[in-house]
Amino acid sequence: LLNSILHKANSGSNNSASNSLVPFPPHEILSSLQTLPLHGHFSLRDNEDAAKDFGNIHHFPPLAVLHPKTVSDISLTIKHVFEMGFASQLKIAARGHGHSLQGQAQVHGGLVINMESLQGPEIKVYNGELPYVDVSGGELWINILHETLKHGLAPKSWTDYLHLTVGGTLSNAGISGQAFKHGPQINNIFQLEVITGKGEVVTCSGNRNADLFYGVLGGLGQFGIITRARISLEPAPMMVKWIRVLYSEFSTFTMDQEYLISLNNTFDYIEGFVIINRTGILNNWRSSFDPKNPLQASQFSSDGKTLYCLEMAKYFNPDEAEAMNQSVDQLLSKLSYIPSTLFLSEVSYVEFLDRVHVSENKLRAQGLWEVPHPWLNLLIPRSEIHDFAEEVFGNILKDTSNGPILIYPVNQTRWNSRPSLVTPEEDVFYLVALLSSALPNSTGADSLEHILAQNNKIIDFYTGAQLRVKQYLPHYSTQEEWQVHFGSRWEAFVERKRAYDPLALLAPGHRIFQKAV
Ligand code: FAD
Repeated sequence: LLNSILHKANSGSNNSASNSLVPFPPHEILSSLQTLPLHGHFSLRDNEDAAKDFGNIHHFPPLAVLHPKTVSDISLTIKHVFEMGFASQLKIAARGHGHSLQGQAQVHGGLVINMESLQGPEIKVYNGELPYVDVSGGELWINILHETLKHGLAPKSWTDYLHLTVGGTLSNAGISGQAFKHGPQINNIFQLEVITGKGEVVTCSGNRNADLFYGVLGGLGQFGIITRARISLEPAPMMVKWIRVLYSEFSTFTMDQEYLISLNNTFDYIEGFVIINRTGILNNWRSSFDPKNPLQASQFSSDGKTLYCLEMAKYFNPDEAEAMNQSVDQLLSKLSYIPSTLFLSEVSYVEFLDRVHVSENKLRAQGLWEVPHPWLNLLIPRSEIHDFAEEVFGNILKDTSNGPILIYPVNQTRWNSRPSLVTPEEDVFYLVALLSSALPNSTGADSLEHILAQNNKIIDFYTGAQLRVKQYLPHYSTQEEWQVHFGSRWEAFVERKRAYDPLALLAPGHRIFQKAV
């Protein structure tokens, strides 16, 4: 079977007209894939996990899942499908931890590669002048944290949640409260090992196969599968001073955020969030934070008002506590928050970085983790953030909030512009993350339909107002929309697709390329 398929494929691969006459249905290709000498295996049944993701909105069952053990398992598989040429109809999606929102790691009737089963050599830390760690593309960031801490080191740039894979976040960017200083995770990578859409295994870095390296970083899985990454490290602190303060004025809030990110000597982490229509918010915080002035704090009433919370963290080791406290006091003295709302906490570095996992456990216990998540993540230029906030927080979302709304600025001047990630063209831009959860049987304001309609209103607003907003973790249905998203970088993106995945086998869940380029 294998020989006859390859023979047909090869004889057809030079002639697209005859190809269209002899397409190879996915199940035929799968039969031949099963004859390859792999260390891992294919599973044809019980693949429900591969047909869902954190978004819980799209469910596309694959034909099969490959559980690779080695890099060559993946490369042999892709090479085999590629050699079928244009006749191949089997698409391939790498799946990390499946925390995509819109089916990006799924493939209907195709082959999912379960990256978490890839067994690379152990996580290896190099503690030299420029320390780094070598990890498998399917490794979870939480495991990397624990492993690097054994050497007193840790990656510099994080996501808010660490139960995500390296390949999954590097395909997007990996943005959190450290990104104003260090850039996103994709700016903190020394080297990658990538398997292209032709099945070739390529080692790449900023000065070796640089086009593939920068293409893959933020490249939405379009040019290759990341099987290994070399991640830059820094000395890890033991403790974190974690601070929250509130504002009632959006302009004062953003002025202070922008001031803090402009300083050289500032906090190590700066984020913020919007609080809409919540009561007793400060009481909520008291379980993990202490008010600086308990009496004043008890007199503050948050009820109903829209408030803005600035969240900051300063890293330290126990013997540096005094200097750290002085520096924090000095920074806070320059800010204009509501004085009674200063809340502080001291936690270990691991507790701080893994903070969302605590919320995950609570939500899981209430059955509220595996619900639909119609998230909308946007990157908005500084000059347009006030127009955006006025309409979105002051009007569209005035009365309802279905989950956290993060908002914080980053310095693009400290970001590398070469990766595929698309950002607004301004030195400072804001990440606004509307992290909504929908209740499955609701028909009200917390239903999936209502939240999706609100998201569409927001998109219609900024499109109509011609704000230069870019989606982060982007989701579009047509190639025209993708073209607009990439703007002047579209041609280069297509050129890279042609070079590294010309049959458009990889990452079909984004719906950027439906057929060979
Ligand atoms: P998957 O969902 O499995 O895959 C995502 C995409 O990457 C797919 O297109 C897939 O095909 C591709 N892919 C997966 N593995 C590889 C690989 N090895 N090589 C090439 N392509 C691959 N993002 C942030 O930037 N900052 C945050 O603070 C943040 N917080 C989050 C919190 C939560 C609770 C969740 C659910 C998501 C958060 N995200 C955040 C988004 C997250 O970074 C992305 O959804 C990421 O893609 C998830 O990683 P994953 O391993 O689950 O990837």
